[in-house]
Amino acid sequence: EQFAYVASHDLQEPLRMVTAYTQLLAERYRGKLDDQADKFIGYASEGALRMQVLIKDLLAFSRIGRNGAARGSVDCNAVVEEVVHTLASAIQESGAVVTHAALPTVWADRTQMAQVFQNLIGNAVKFRRKEPPLISVQAEKADQHWLFRVQDNGIGIAPEYAEKIFVVFQRLHARTEYAGNGIGLAICKKIIERGGGKIWVESQAGSGSTFKFTVPLHGPDEREGMRL
Ligand code: ADP
Repeated sequence: EQFAYVASHDLQEPLRMVTAYTQLLAERYRGKLDDQADKFIGYASEGALRMQVLIKDLLAFSRIGRNGAARGSVDCNAVVEEVVHTLASAIQESGAVVTHAALPTVWADRTQMAQVFQNLIGNAVKFRRKEPPLISVQAEKADQHWLFRVQDNGIGIAPEYAEKIFVVFQRLHARTEYAGNGIGLAICKKIIERGGGKIWVESQAGSGSTFKFTVPLHGPDEREGMRL
């Protein structure tokens, strides 16, 4: 984790040089050399920009929880509604319908819970089939934790990839097919596990996915059935 932080942090500086100078080359020399040169400059700038995004993602991943989590009472209804608002344009474009049952108030870091829901709901919208996505968020109380479910009717995931997708930069599709860097689920996993929970997926290729995660109950009140 620390390696990821140091590496990504220190890589930014030289990369800034590479991006700045490839951009300069592109601006000054596009159309002045031959076609091949234009193409090469284009590839170099694209590669540098892409690396910037990857480093930024890696940094974001390694920074999770570096300053500890700011835990408090978090109303998940409000968080999910906010996330739906943030994702409004993707939701509208795809014709997605996102529903949520009455969700609990949990003891967690609000920003981090929002990140988890945003990644899961965002993925449910993105990895859709032809028909509009139907996404539901539900939660139920188990012995020692809340069990959340984010369910979609999308492309699904073959069971053999169920664990792989939670690893940094692991994805099952080319970026030309579905945009993304493969960091979202790694971030979710880190947040949930740091909070003492677990996250996994239940799915079959072609028939939708259900992402499940747990958030431990906090204190005797919650364990005895009272809302926080
Ligand atoms: P990204 O969305 O940037 O690809 P993630 O870490 O969020 O990265 O997801 C990793 C991979 O898991 C995705 O590339 C995709 O193959 C698979 N995946 C995630 N969510 C879903 C989903 N709801 N339905 C189908 N596949 C999914």
